[in-house]
Amino acid sequence: TRTTSQTRMIKQLLAVLLLCKCQADAFTTSPTVRVMSERAPTRLKGIKMPLRMSGGEAGDPKGGAHFGFLGMGIMGIPMAKNLIKAGYSVTVWNRTPDRCLPLVECGALQASSPAEVVKECDITFAMLADPQAAKDVVYGTSEFQGVLTEMREGKAYVDVSTVSDDCSKQIAASILDKGGRFLEAPVSGSKKPAEDGTLIFLCAGDQSLYKEVTPALDAMGKKSVFLGEVGAGAKMKLVVNMIMTSMLTAFSEGMALASSAGLQISDLLDVVDSGAIASPMFKLKGPLMDQGKYDPAFPLKHARKDINLALLLASQHDLDLPVSAAASQQYLKAEAKGAADLDFSAVHQNYQESGKTELRNK
Ligand code: NAP
Repeated sequence: TRTTSQTRMIKQLLAVLLLCKCQADAFTTSPTVRVMSERAPTRLKGIKMPLRMSGGEAGDPKGGAHFGFLGMGIMGIPMAKNLIKAGYSVTVWNRTPDRCLPLVECGALQASSPAEVVKECDITFAMLADPQAAKDVVYGTSEFQGVLTEMREGKAYVDVSTVSDDCSKQIAASILDKGGRFLEAPVSGSKKPAEDGTLIFLCAGDQSLYKEVTPALDAMGKKSVFLGEVGAGAKMKLVVNMIMTSMLTAFSEGMALASSAGLQISDLLDVVDSGAIASPMFKLKGPLMDQGKYDPAFPLKHARKDINLALLLASQHDLDLPVSAAASQQYLKAEAKGAADLDFSAVHQNYQESGKTELRNK
């Protein structure tokens, strides 16, 4: 009969063989040969793997580092893939486990809880929907053990989700209380920049951790800034998204007015793109909005969350922001009409048929 350790060794060997099964289009730019396995699997779940699988040389900034990544959503998947592509070992977790599959297929390990990820990895990234999700993952729920269970000295947590500064500070305090280090690093950029590795990280918190993870941030983004104490990154992100979401409602209203006034939308898009208000966002979203195509890059429910968090921040500073307040109503309205999971540009639906009537009635 085999001993437990023999069985474990055989399982590890099988897992390593699976990971090494090449696909022709595996990541050729990787400094180590990091290849995709064929449908590797949830069978890897729970198997303990050596932490330095990618075998970076001493002095190599990647140094064989092994990162955790929590949250396999629209953003988390391409970001974690870029870490693997850069040669890092990655262990992933998602509340809905099946969504880890694209990463497992690229060679990631899959853990069964956030606690297990933190246990296996010294530095764990999190890309989660909103403040509630961020707290659930840190503190745990009846369904899974949270990050804090395994947080201790020598461990670090980098939250790249968009949350309020209060939420970020609460999480930071809990991580520090356990002896860990914390960095907030919400991102500017959407699905495509996440895929292209051109995000912008708005970092704040532990500066030594910031320096340590900069090579990993560089694998996922084109720029990162360090803004000071925890909360500054969250606030900067909310300001940026408040501007962005308000811009998109104004753009949507411009399209509605142009259309009602008998102008060609293609002409409007051309004129806007040629002048001082040209914006990559208008250029990208305009033609899609005109065709009523709203495949989610940035889900509308998150845009509504962000503009509301920004308005909450403004109210904490006794600031009245009438334009953003009006814009937030448009996202609420679109969400109530069923557009929560569409792209945030689906706010444009408010101005189609029924919107036209509303405009005419005013
Ligand atoms: P998404 O596709 O909706 O993914 C959300 C992730 O959060 C999923 O992994 C989801 O798990 C998880 N989650 C939600 N509630 C949870 C809970 N209570 N407990 C544990 N996990 C939970 O969102 P996304 O577009 O990737 O965005 C993620 C974050 O980045 C958000 O804060 C968003 O505002 C921000 N952001 C997004 C963009 C963008 O363009 N998409 C750009 C910049 C920043 P399940 O799969 O189990 O639901």
